[in-house]
Amino acid sequence: MRIAAIVPAAGRGERLGQPVPKALVQIGGLPLVVHAVAALFQARIDTVVVAAPLDAIDDVRRMVPRAAVVPGGADRRESVRNALAAIPPDVDAVLVHDAARPFVPDDVVRRVLDALQAGAAAVVPVLPLADTVKRVGGDGVVIETIDRSTLRAVQTPQGFRRDVLAAAHAANATYDVTDDAALVEAAGVPVQTVPGDARAFKVTTPWDLAVAESLWKGGPA
Ligand code: C5P
Repeated sequence: MRIAAIVPAAGRGERLGQPVPKALVQIGGLPLVVHAVAALFQARIDTVVVAAPLDAIDDVRRMVPRAAVVPGGADRRESVRNALAAIPPDVDAVLVHDAARPFVPDDVVRRVLDALQAGAAAVVPVLPLADTVKRVGGDGVVIETIDRSTLRAVQTPQGFRRDVLAAAHAANATYDVTDDAALVEAAGVPVQTVPGDARAFKVTTPWDLAVAESLWKGGPA
């Protein structure tokens, strides 16, 4: 099975409060997108397509010279769609990995690939939730407590049979999605879960950035 990876890296990262696009924010002197792409190469994925912010395409090309770089889109879905169009024709399965997850361990990538090899059409790495989860109204008052035993936090890389991902993206979904598996689910395709890893966390807030920086100083976690 020939595998390629897509790295959507075109988000602004408003919640991080930095002047540069999130993928260019540095950890240990290296941009997030460089860490994310390096983790994929490290896991022996050698075809990687990055969707870059429009105002930083040349910068990203210089940062990840072994990857192909395409223009990102207005939303995550469009960024992935642009990258899908640049995947070589002989690729059978595609991983989609957030640029904002710099430290995904090889083992997580391996589990996703193993599930694809075993015949899954779509695979996501997941973690159980540690906190109690409640639904809260606009007035800040709790509506209900949700049974967390069946809930999972979903990470990346998410893995897909190429035809399944392409069909899900080609379908004319009008709603915004926060991951690719949601599009595949909407198409009625079963999505397999495999264990994720805390180290595959997404850098979203200044706190996450501080955590990433201290993990990096202690050596790759
Ligand atoms: O905003 P969030 O952290 O959920 O974004 C997940 C990933 O999608 C990030 O790596 C971000 O760069 C990417 N993205 C993108 N194009 C957009 C919006 C987000 O590639 N227009």
